[in-house]
Amino acid sequence: MRRKLVVGNWKMNGSRAANASLLAGIVAGVNAADASCAVCAPAPYLSQCQDALSGSPVAWGAQDVSAQPGGAFTGEVAAAMLADFACTYVIVGHSERRAYHGESSELVAKKTVAVLDAGMTPIVCVGETLAERDAGQTAAVVSGQLGAVLDLVGERMAQIVVAYEPVWAIGTGKTATPAMAQEVHAQLRAQLMAKNAVAAETVQILYGGSMKPDNALELMAQPDIDGGLIGGAALKAADFLAILHAA
Ligand code: PGA
Repeated sequence: MRRKLVVGNWKMNGSRAANASLLAGIVAGVNAADASCAVCAPAPYLSQCQDALSGSPVAWGAQDVSAQPGGAFTGEVAAAMLADFACTYVIVGHSERRAYHGESSELVAKKTVAVLDAGMTPIVCVGETLAERDAGQTAAVVSGQLGAVLDLVGERMAQIVVAYEPVWAIGTGKTATPAMAQEVHAQLRAQLMAKNAVAAETVQILYGGSMKPDNALELMAQPDIDGGLIGGAALKAADFLAILHAA
């Protein structure tokens, strides 16, 4: 049995004041019996998350990381620095990083390894654009993105989380139907199975893309949907908690 996991991706949103009330709201509403949960905040606010969430059931993490261990890389943040703020998770390969920052699947694979090496859990995002879906390329695109990571992580496959986020569903209000999402999740699970059947049973595959309180239950009832990576709805404590309780 895989435990459900709900992760908020705050993206480039927040302020010290807004985060303080969001974090307090989440901590006040979370129950020990809930699914696992975490918030992934902009790097400057990781210390604030650590202060607000230490001792609570809510974990925290980052939204990106450098593939480099350190040194002359102006503006970059090393995995060891994220571990220094007790991050549990690091999102890698989000479609916004791939689209706006030119990240290749090979770079995403290197970042995944950097996160594992630093003792944290990478949340590896994969997903097709609308043009790719319309061209019937969904399976090929997501398997190529996941395959690059699996080739590099080898035996550590069991330590990753995968997030399927169809690009056309992110921030658009258009959600994949539960059946559409399940179809891709099952393909991803089969790809994991082909590498290591035992590990594949334990890897959590999250769905992301306009997951909201009113569709979370249906999506997470699918056999291969093990939780959610939540953007817009993670910025309101009530919505994030409603999704967490659905899980
Ligand atoms: P959304 O974002 O929930 O706002 O669609 C999800 C994500 O990009 O992780």
